[in-house]
Amino acid sequence: MPYSAFGEPATGAPPSPEDASLTTFGHFLRSHDRFLLTGHENPDGDCLGAQTALLHLLTTLGKQAWIVNPDPIGASYDFLLRHTPFGAVRPDTPLPEIDAAILLDCCQIGRLGTLGPRLVALGVPIGIIDHHVGSETGDGQFHYVDAKAAATGVLVRRLYREFGVPLSAAAAEGVFLSLISDTGWFRYSNTDAEVFAMAGELVAAGVDVSLVYDSLYRRRHPDSTRLLTEALATHRFVLQGKLALASLDRHWMERAGHIDFDPDQVLEPLRSTAGVEVVAVLKERFDGSVKVSMRARADVDVQAIVAQWGGGGHKKAAGATLRCPLAEAEQLVCDGVARALASAAAVPQPVQPPRQPPGRI
Ligand code: AMP
Ligand code: MN
Ligand code: MN
Repeated sequence: MPYSAFGEPATGAPPSPEDASLTTFGHFLRSHDRFLLTGHENPDGDCLGAQTALLHLLTTLGKQAWIVNPDPIGASYDFLLRHTPFGAVRPDTPLPEIDAAILLDCCQIGRLGTLGPRLVALGVPIGIIDHHVGSETGDGQFHYVDAKAAATGVLVRRLYREFGVPLSAAAAEGVFLSLISDTGWFRYSNTDAEVFAMAGELVAAGVDVSLVYDSLYRRRHPDSTRLLTEALATHRFVLQGKLALASLDRHWMERAGHIDFDPDQVLEPLRSTAGVEVVAVLKERFDGSVKVSMRARADVDVQAIVAQWGGGGHKKAAGATLRCPLAEAEQLVCDGVARALASAAAVPQPVQPPRQPPGRI
């Protein structure tokens, strides 16, 4: 939905497909009473923040809702527990009695780990709230998807408007966490006018910005700096410096199990290197698979690269799980990026004016 500079819906414009699906999704919420909210494995700030806001919306509407994720929340997100309970699936614990489920920040049952088959076995309708490319065709019967939205939390905020429910401070904190997680604290190219309008409104609704920042980034384990140094030291530049790769092998993962590691700490400095167009961080998991996280600058579409391995995401931030040894995964990433760079080079680019050195003031 387009928003004016003051955060109100723009008037006079014909309803967009997103507006129509917002209305349909609102009907799906109205016509059920007991919801299970879930999301992707290792839930990130967008996933958890959107779940927080949706849980409070549903309970305000007089419904029952439980958040049950494939994995427990990371320690740095524990500030959310002040006002929102989070559950994680356990093989021996029954799921709550529900009549609908909602996947947030994810559209594939395959990304729910062991929870996926259990949810499908319940036979309840599944709703999807997501902003990933292609999520309209995800594994649900009801979709509220906008791939142009900066974060899933933005979509939940729009649902509040649809229902005319004011944001509580707890819900505002959730949406704010979504925004800062997926925009890198308002630095990435998905940071649009709607994001800034919303951020102002959320702070006005009671978000304590420094509490969120300090909770996320200022409570690191004393071992974090050494392990981060080691992780950064694995980096190498290939493809004439256009691809930066860092690989965290099983040995590093074992030693880092207790530090609540955020891969953006490695991705971000590598992405800041002149000449680098794509960054990839590979993590060797204990089940032998390799988690690949990719970030792009300029025009390389990393979502298109990982799509060939069954992964997904956005044009400039995407991920996939590869079922092969680490060295093979590195080679796949190099080959995939090389092909993407070659096809991007084949497309004529607009001529850029020469860059001027900064003048003296
Ligand atoms: P990450 O590199 O895990 O931070 O993920 C970057 C973006 O890609 C996020 O929007 C993720 O939700 C998405 N993503 C990561 N892994 C996958 C996957 N296996 N399938 C679909 N989307 C993914
Ligand atoms: Mn996510
Ligand atoms: Mn997201």
